[in-house]
Amino acid sequence: MDKKARLSIWYFIIVFWILIMVQELYVASQHMDEVPYSQFKQWLIDDQVDEVAITETIINGKLKPDRVDGDPQWFKTIRVDDPGLVKLLEEKKVEYAGVILSTLWRDVASWVIPILIFAGVWFFLLRKMGQGAGGGFMRIGQSKAKIYMEQEIKVKMGDVAGVDEAKEELVEVIEFLKTPEKFTRIGGRIPKGVLLIGPPGTGKTLLARAIAGEAGVPFFSISGSEFVEMFVGVGAARVRDLFEQAKVKAPCIIFIDELDALGKARGAGPMAHEEREQTLNQLLVEMDGFDPTVGVIILAATNRPEILDAALMRAGRFDRQVLVDRPDRPGREAILKIHAKNIQMAPEVSLEKIAAMTTGMAGAELANIINEGALLAVRRDRETVEQKDLEEAVERVVAGLEKKNRVLSEGERKRVAHHEVGHALVALSISGADPVQKISIIPRGIAALGYTLQLPTQDRYLLTRSELESKIAVLLGGRIAEELVFGEASTGAADDLQKATNIAQRMVKDYGMSDVLGTVALDNERQASFLQTKEPSYGTQYSEETAREIDQEVRRLIDAQATLVKELLTKLSPVLLEAAEKLMEEEVMTGDDLRALMDGGKEKAGLQTA
Ligand code: ADP
Ligand code: MG
Ligand code: ZN
Repeated sequence: MDKKARLSIWYFIIVFWILIMVQELYVASQHMDEVPYSQFKQWLIDDQVDEVAITETIINGKLKPDRVDGDPQWFKTIRVDDPGLVKLLEEKKVEYAGVILSTLWRDVASWVIPILIFAGVWFFLLRKMGQGAGGGFMRIGQSKAKIYMEQEIKVKMGDVAGVDEAKEELVEVIEFLKTPEKFTRIGGRIPKGVLLIGPPGTGKTLLARAIAGEAGVPFFSISGSEFVEMFVGVGAARVRDLFEQAKVKAPCIIFIDELDALGKARGAGPMAHEEREQTLNQLLVEMDGFDPTVGVIILAATNRPEILDAALMRAGRFDRQVLVDRPDRPGREAILKIHAKNIQMAPEVSLEKIAAMTTGMAGAELANIINEGALLAVRRDRETVEQKDLEEAVERVVAGLEKKNRVLSEGERKRVAHHEVGHALVALSISGADPVQKISIIPRGIAALGYTLQLPTQDRYLLTRSELESKIAVLLGGRIAEELVFGEASTGAADDLQKATNIAQRMVKDYGMSDVLGTVALDNERQASFLQTKEPSYGTQYSEETAREIDQEVRRLIDAQATLVKELLTKLSPVLLEAAEKLMEEEVMTGDDLRALMDGGKEKAGLQTA
């Protein structure tokens, strides 16, 4: 602790002590027992009374210090018409006046002293603040958002596993940090800001550190969530500091963890947080203002990209985004291996089996499993960790995840696999649908248990009627596949149905694509964004009859697609079953994998290849 801090601690102790004293005195002055006049008279006769104050109606008094135990020091009594009182007081040599002088003093003191003290404290704080950023009062704010600077990081890329795609994308960043001159000489585009996006615990922070470790550059880090409670202006100053310090140490990395806490869309939420906005603006200014050739790379991590301010993603800022997704089975095995490296494992332990049990878990949870397993082994006085320790650890970690649906039962996985293959098969078979990139049964977040990733080949601003219809068909594919294979649908298709209905409604109401209702836009209020859920609009511009017709049309559109999809998937059912089987085993499949299966299947069924 430095001298200043020790001094101010003393200061506070003294102030505190004085406050307590004043409080004590004040309470004493307030405390006056009301006694009967006869009691007062008795005390007076017994020579107990020290001093009295006589007013129109009451008499306040103070007893002598050597009073009888248990009697109050201060008392008051109702004044009665007693002509003998003054004579008695004089006889007993008791001072009397309009007020008790010592009480007067106390009254004044109990007001004046606290005022003086508060003024003193205020003055002290103001003076401290006047010393500017870096000292005194401001330190309270600053200590929250620390800039951490690490010179030599030991973490290497080899310590991160299961996120190969992200690692590949980041190789270039490492190269640049190692030899910035080379990049600037050739004049290639140097990344300025890279945003790591992914669920919690997938290794974003670890990856950022590994980049610094691998490139051998200093690592400046700061966490977005620490900015939130600071005083207005402090956060922005910190950001400025951060960039200043980093420029001196270039080449280096600036890492902003939990960017979402800081980079929430401006003006969002019930009360726009002024401090956050200022800090965010400062960050944008700093990012725009610096020259990437100096060799500073800004990394940031978030698990909520959807709430980020769009300005952050603009060119010259975090224009490169890297997905750090939950690992697949081989990825999980690799992560388990990394964490098991320094732990004594029994030879029969199969990390492959553990990997197979932990679909949907992220790196942090896998690291936790190894750790728990080791703890269990120690508790049982074993020298090595055995398979059953690890299996129990899996159960514990799963329980700890509060059953967030992240780890599916075998039955559920089977259903999800068929559902996703259903979507993908439809997308591959009909014209006008976006090509399938990837099918996965690794849960994403809480809502989606699996997903089929379709990427449009180019940016689309216009969609034709048949393209919209094929979107509906693909959405229905999941549910219909479930019905075909398991005989009934599940709740897993709710979101798909919602989306399909939404598209159909807009086709009828907004795009005039219904033969029955004709080429009219039935909703005047509409949002500019394409194919998005609309705000509820209050009041409609059409009659109840039209509303009924709209409903019928929507139903007709969806039913027509459902019939088509049912036919299609029934024909393709051998492929559906085979692909689902494969997906359950591998958890992830590419669109090409599925197409290969499909081509094989079609030949068997004697169908024509589309
Ligand atoms: P995030 O920042 O994405 O929330 P972290 O990087 O903080 O996740 O991960 C927490 C810990 O979990 C890491 O320190 C590491 O021990 C472990 N971990 C997470 N992901 C991985 C991974 N891909 N490879 C190895 N270990 C991982
Ligand atoms: Mg993190
Ligand atoms: Zn679905």
